[in-house]
Amino acid sequence: MSDFPQRVSVHLDRSATRAVHKGAVRVFDGSVTRVRGEGSPGDIAILYGPRDRAFALGLYDPNAPVRVRVLSNELGVAIDHAFIRHRVRAAVDARLTHFDDAETDGYRLIHGPGDGLPGLVVDRYAGTAVLKCYAHAWLPWLPTIVQALREDGILACGILRLSRALQSEGDAIAPYAEGLLLWGDEPEVATAFRENGIRFEVDPRRGQKTGFFLDQRENRQRVEALSANKSVLNAFCYTGGFSLYAARGGAKRVVSIDASKQAMAALERNIALNAGWTRNASANGVQATFDNLCGDAFEQMNDLLRYGEAFDVVIIDPPSFAKRNAEIESAQQAYTRLARLGAELTTENGTLVFASCSSRITEALLEDALGAGVRHARKHVEVFERVGHPIDHPVARVEEQYLKCLYGTITRA
Ligand code: SAH
Repeated sequence: MSDFPQRVSVHLDRSATRAVHKGAVRVFDGSVTRVRGEGSPGDIAILYGPRDRAFALGLYDPNAPVRVRVLSNELGVAIDHAFIRHRVRAAVDARLTHFDDAETDGYRLIHGPGDGLPGLVVDRYAGTAVLKCYAHAWLPWLPTIVQALREDGILACGILRLSRALQSEGDAIAPYAEGLLLWGDEPEVATAFRENGIRFEVDPRRGQKTGFFLDQRENRQRVEALSANKSVLNAFCYTGGFSLYAARGGAKRVVSIDASKQAMAALERNIALNAGWTRNASANGVQATFDNLCGDAFEQMNDLLRYGEAFDVVIIDPPSFAKRNAEIESAQQAYTRLARLGAELTTENGTLVFASCSSRITEALLEDALGAGVRHARKHVEVFERVGHPIDHPVARVEEQYLKCLYGTITRA
């Protein structure tokens, strides 16, 4: 492919120009006023402002709503294979320095814009890499990315996952496809990895996102520290990340809720994988009992309330309720309902851990919903900690901070 990448001149309107100057990495088709050159996915876009002055460089995607992913606000750099390799290596090297394989060999290697590679995510699960691609523009660059990822020899295989939009392109993106093995031998359906010494399995091909919610690692550690001799409710538990940490922290009882049957089955297997301390006593001599409830979290929490249940620690980590701006208001209502249920189910002086993974819900909005929900429960909340992103999910700009987690002490009003 000697003629790849080509260059395309892309002219932007005033507001998109300003946004890119301020660090925005996505240029939408509606703000493109003119394009010079044919341009295929992955070609280099030279961005021009309204005065026809070039000012930034990115990857071109002729058919996608996100027409350009910005890679550099400097014109003096060449965006070529060496440039992309360098960005991949910088991201990977930072993780390899930070994490110790003996404790944690599952973490995010590349976090999109935070690592200067917008539209690309790579997660590591022991020897398996899962590459999640959100833009056609990245596909022609995959050989370069794969080569850079393999340099350390720790990643024995790589699986490609695609955004919904890319999956719907079907044959147009062949040979790339959802679940493609990019290198190495087939990974196990239940690929095992370690997070802070706890063993988990992921299904790299069929798990949600890339298989596991690695972004909650630090919050799970906090929950572990809060759990000794406590009863813990974990709503929207997925495969039980918080549940296992709570048990290792010495919880007496852990109730987990998720609507996904596959996730609940994986939770059972994760409990078995850690049989050393889940089937016997944990560090403080307490053996947790697990109650795993498959179903809608709102309904299940209502049922728990009706049975008169209450928990010392309640974790609520729902899916993103606001995928579009139009959904912000209904999302706020859902968060408020959950905060109310959570507060009602929390014992006096217990802790409510309340998370959102929607970038459209700011920390202030989430705190508003928490406050409103707790008031509806006729209780009071004292927020004592606000946690953002872990080190392997870096954010360059506040708009990219999708994850927030509030810790509140719940008391009677
Ligand atoms: N806390 C988890 C991640 C949660 S992701 C962890 O640490 O791994 C959100 C989860 O909510 C998913 O597992 C999804 O299956 C589940 N979910 C979505 N809607 C739900 C609903 N109405 N009731 C219960 N679970 C739901």
